[in-house]
This record gives sequence, structure tokens and C-alpha cells, in this order.
Amino acid sequence: MAFVIPELPRPCAAIAGSDDLFPVHRVYCVGRNYAEHAREMGHDPDREPPFFFQKSPDNLFPAGPDDGGAGGAEFPYPPKSDNVHFEMELVVALSKGGTDISEDKALDHVWGYGVGLDMTRRDLQGEAKKAGRPWDVGKAFELSGPIGPLRPVTETGHISEGRIWLNVNGENRQDGNVNQLIWSIPETISYLSGLFDLKPGDLIFTGTPAGVGPVTKGDVMEGGVDGVGEIRATVV
Ligand code: MN
Repeated sequence: MAFVIPELPRPCAAIAGSDDLFPVHRVYCVGRNYAEHAREMGHDPDREPPFFFQKSPDNLFPAGPDDGGAGGAEFPYPPKSDNVHFEMELVVALSKGGTDISEDKALDHVWGYGVGLDMTRRDLQGEAKKAGRPWDVGKAFELSGPIGPLRPVTETGHISEGRIWLNVNGENRQDGNVNQLIWSIPETISYLSGLFDLKPGDLIFTGTPAGVGPVTKGDVMEGGVDGVGEIRATVV
């Protein structure tokens, strides 16, 4: 057997302090999972629960503190947009799949945690929302998922609280706490597993706190989740 076209490399996330890699299957993202962010986007979190969309696994690229030069990894400003936003997020990495996973068993499926940016073409996302169209052009574009190195649960423990923050050019723009998640991590895994067959290698971007905003070329984005890790990237 041979492949009839070139086989592309499997998307992977880095592991902190190791050359090992985490092979990525799917990238699920939770929308409006922090109440203050839902409100800043013009929605009422008491009336509209969070929801899901996906990025493509090959949208990810390594953007840990040790990736790239002084400014970190490079995030290329994408085409067809004049309003690209940062969204700092805690990322959950699954070691085991399943369907209809109960909340009390959900954390048994977690390999570890990391941090990522759900970079968003906000103008294209806004047009899609208005037209009732899918969000893919706003969310799943090339290199839209800078991700820091993952750390195993054996190092971090399970994450239910911790400051989540993002600075742009040294100025704080997002400052929340993972304990403000509307859907906790077990609730998110359980709910997702009712909709999809979860697999080892799935990542979940758990949503962003308030303070999202635009970047321009030259901006340096630095952020993290306390007890999990950090990320750094320059817009080029
Ligand atoms: Mn997001």
C-alpha cells in the first residue's frame, strides 16, 4: 500500500521539559464560557449557555516561552481581516476517548493541561454570525492556534482555579480566573462526549475571559495560566 498523494506530518503539541510530543486528534473550542466575556460580546450568559466549535489540528503551532527568539514565536497576521483578536485560554489534553462520559469519570480522561490562544478574525466571525453561517473563516485559519507546551496531570494536578492572564506589549489586557468557567472541565468533557466520539489526542480550548481585543503587526502577546504554563508570540 502507498499513499497516492504526499502524507502530511501529524499535528502535535510540545511537552514541557521533554522532546516527547502529544499527537493531536481534534481541537474543540468552547464559546462564551466566562460570563464577563459573553457580556462584552453582547450576550446574556444567564440566557444562552456555552457552545462548541472546532479549529483544525494543523492550525496549531508551538508558542511556548522557549520557542522563537526574544519576541517568542511568530503569529503571521492573517489575510482578509482588519480586526484580529487574541483570546487567552486554558487547554485540556485528553489521554482517553469515549462517548457519554459521566462528569464524575471525566477527569480520568485528562492527560494534562496547557495554554493556548484562540486567535480570531473577529470581522469575518461577525459577518458569519449576522448571516447565520459557520464560524470557520473567523476561527480555523492558518496558524490561528498558538499553543504552549503541555504538562501532565501528574505535575499540575487537575486545574479548577488559577489566574488566567494576557498582556500585550507588557500591558495587561485579560485577567480572570479558571474558577470563573461557566462549564467546568468535567462538565465540558461530559457534554462534548454526548455530541462526539472523543479520542486520545483531543484538545479542548476551554474559552476566554473578558478583555479580548485586536492586535497589530509588531505586538507581543504574553500570557499564561498559573500552575499550568505560559505562551508568547509576536504578530508579524
Ligand atoms: Mn475562544
